[in-house]
Amino acid sequence: MVVRFAPSPTGPLHIGGVRTALYNYLLARKHGGRFILRIEDTDQTRFVPGAEEYIIEALTWCGIEFDEGPHIGGPHAPYRQSERKALYAQYAHLLVERGWAYYAFDTESELEEMRQRFEAAGMVAPQYNAVTRPYMKNSLTLPPEEVQERLRTQPYVVRFLVPRGREVRFYDEIRGWVSVHTKEMDDKVLLKSDGMPTYHLANVVDDHLMRVTHVIRGEEWLPSTPLHVLLYEAFGWERPKFAHLPLLLRPDGGGKLSKRDGDQLGFPVFPLQWRDPQTGETSEGYRERGFLPEGVVNYLALLGWHPAEEREIFTIDELIEAFSLERVSKAGARFDFEKARWVNQQHLRALPLRRLAELIRPLWESRRLPPVPENSLMALIELARERATLLPEIIEAVRFYYEPPTFPLPDQQGAKLNLALVEELPEWIGELVELEPWTAEDVERFIRRKAEARGLPIGKVLPTLRLALTGDVSGPSLYKIMEVLGRGETITRLERFLAAYGVQRQV
Ligand code: GLU
Repeated sequence: MVVRFAPSPTGPLHIGGVRTALYNYLLARKHGGRFILRIEDTDQTRFVPGAEEYIIEALTWCGIEFDEGPHIGGPHAPYRQSERKALYAQYAHLLVERGWAYYAFDTESELEEMRQRFEAAGMVAPQYNAVTRPYMKNSLTLPPEEVQERLRTQPYVVRFLVPRGREVRFYDEIRGWVSVHTKEMDDKVLLKSDGMPTYHLANVVDDHLMRVTHVIRGEEWLPSTPLHVLLYEAFGWERPKFAHLPLLLRPDGGGKLSKRDGDQLGFPVFPLQWRDPQTGETSEGYRERGFLPEGVVNYLALLGWHPAEEREIFTIDELIEAFSLERVSKAGARFDFEKARWVNQQHLRALPLRRLAELIRPLWESRRLPPVPENSLMALIELARERATLLPEIIEAVRFYYEPPTFPLPDQQGAKLNLALVEELPEWIGELVELEPWTAEDVERFIRRKAEARGLPIGKVLPTLRLALTGDVSGPSLYKIMEVLGRGETITRLERFLAAYGVQRQV
């Protein structure tokens, strides 16, 4: 099996493109095949600098690796279509020789004139086809000498000659048989007047030369496939298998998921942050939002594919094992950001603590938070990760660590203090100074024993201590908080609290 991902570098890779790449990758790995990255940059007017690098970085972040591509080379190099330009013209001329294509000399204004003329005659959206072709300036209508003359002196394009009266049939691995009559098709340009191929020609020629066995791409390319099928026939090449993946829909199901929907609904539609080189506008990515690549990949796999078993959480290796095209559905897949977060949460919980610390530390540092030793960082992560769905939530959940409470507390919080405990606290502190060892378990035993001995309900003691140490009544386990703060910081905070409430510790 040989599959390829063939993006056009016209901007950042949409999350739907990541899914296409992922499905190709999973199949290649499952069947021990090869996975090619091919950059389809023949439309120079839409070329965006940085887009190719972005695509490679984004897929690398996701753990999607290629066997061949512009960044790693391979037996079919070059992998950028702009660098293969000379090749395509030969194939276009070959089709002309074989009677499957022709030269056309019509100018923009002549094409426009044709459209207007046929529209006036009642035709809807006139195209260059069997009906209009005889009225145009091309190598089928002009005398051979004039054609030769024009080829020497004028810009021209090569158009595909769609055969009359045929039903083009092909099998799509996801949708089954697809059939289109050639009267529905137009004579698409194969080679442009600048000598560059169009998508159709370059795509088919390269899939053939690169020995691609399975063309797996988004549903938006389905309408192009009948032409591709005819091109394979015209060249006399064996055609690959086709599979068109379902569209990614907006959460409400009302249409294709676009960048604008993401902006409006508050979730990213790109894997990584992207800065538009023209407008300077920045779009957020899943990575910057705090997703793990494992979470993004797992969620994307589920957008259009249903595992055989009742299970939703997979590592990429488990996906390779479980994935098959038979279980990809035809129906569009609705994007569900909450589900994406949930899937990410499951991966956050499963990640080894050390690896999580490696991911959190740069975030911690980029926020210029006070330095944190490695063992405290791991302890903090352990405290917070259960409830976090995204990486930054871990940092926010341990705010108590880097942002000591300020006193006096706001009235609403102050009202929750247990004054009897406040009175006793100096004595408690005196004993805490001596407490050995200082672990969550020891601290808990101490607090429970003291509360019981003094007849203070634990349900009042804990919120008071929590307010004194964190300024908040909710959060991770108080005993664990005391353990990570350490004895010194715990006592400093309790003393500052007491000072604010007018109670002095007696030494
Ligand atoms: N260049 C096309 C794209 O941008 C490739 C479509 C295909 O895979 O054939 O998606």
